[in-house]
Amino acid sequence: MALELHHVTKRHGEGATAVTALDDVSLAIPTGTFAAVMGPSGSGKSTLLHCAAGLDRPDSGSVVLDGRRLDGLDEAALTRLRRERMGFVFQSFNLVPTLTVAQNVTLPLEFAGRRVDARRVRALLTRLGLGERTGHRPGELSGGQQQRVAIARAMLGEPAVVFADEPTGALDTQAAREVLAILRQAAAQDGRTIVMVTHDPVAASYADVVVFFADGHVVDHLPRPDAATVAARMARLSAPAHAGGAR
Ligand code: ADP
Ligand code: MG
Repeated sequence: MALELHHVTKRHGEGATAVTALDDVSLAIPTGTFAAVMGPSGSGKSTLLHCAAGLDRPDSGSVVLDGRRLDGLDEAALTRLRRERMGFVFQSFNLVPTLTVAQNVTLPLEFAGRRVDARRVRALLTRLGLGERTGHRPGELSGGQQQRVAIARAMLGEPAVVFADEPTGALDTQAAREVLAILRQAAAQDGRTIVMVTHDPVAASYADVVVFFADGHVVDHLPRPDAATVAARMARLSAPAHAGGAR
């Protein structure tokens, strides 16, 4: 398993205003799986990503990433583990505007003190359709191209898990499809493990499995999802609790 959560509970805040964002969540994502995480707003998706990446500490339970338990690691060890074994893709790309495409992609490896193989960088960028763009700055690229740079940056170090938070949220339909196809290919062909939070049933349909959250619980798993089934499941989860039955 690339990622395991064992009975993870996480509360935000104190006393009467405390919110249980994750309530006894157990989950296992096998290596080479592209998993989508869906659920209504406030269901715990961001808290899940933060706990899984060691950015937030569970109140109880444990997270195991790439065979290593995160509890017990101090902040320095967690930072190292994030640099060496995790990749991140955000809705807003988070590229450094003053650096070239190639420099953006190699930055995490340089921070980690790892050797950068220029030929591998070029091969990866070429595969993502960015071979002619390696010397460009992010501002000279379309949104879809920028997100492909961010994906190259996340993948170059061959992480155990790539966390993607709404990676297609800022893209048009065509650019989103290209990004999703790249993520799917990274899992299917390169054995990358991807955990993607999304609101979009079409985006989720590119994944191998959809994990549905509601009120801090995992309420369903849908393997080999299609967009219509995902949308129907989401509609039921988002409906008010007492609305069922009447019509
Ligand atoms: P999602 O990403 O699915 O919208 P979150 O994980 O962000 O859900 O939030 C889950 C619950 O925890 C929500 O009720 C939210 O208001 C609460 N929450 C999240 N972060 C904090 C925080 N830092 N302080 C207080 N409450 C929080
Ligand atoms: Mg969120």
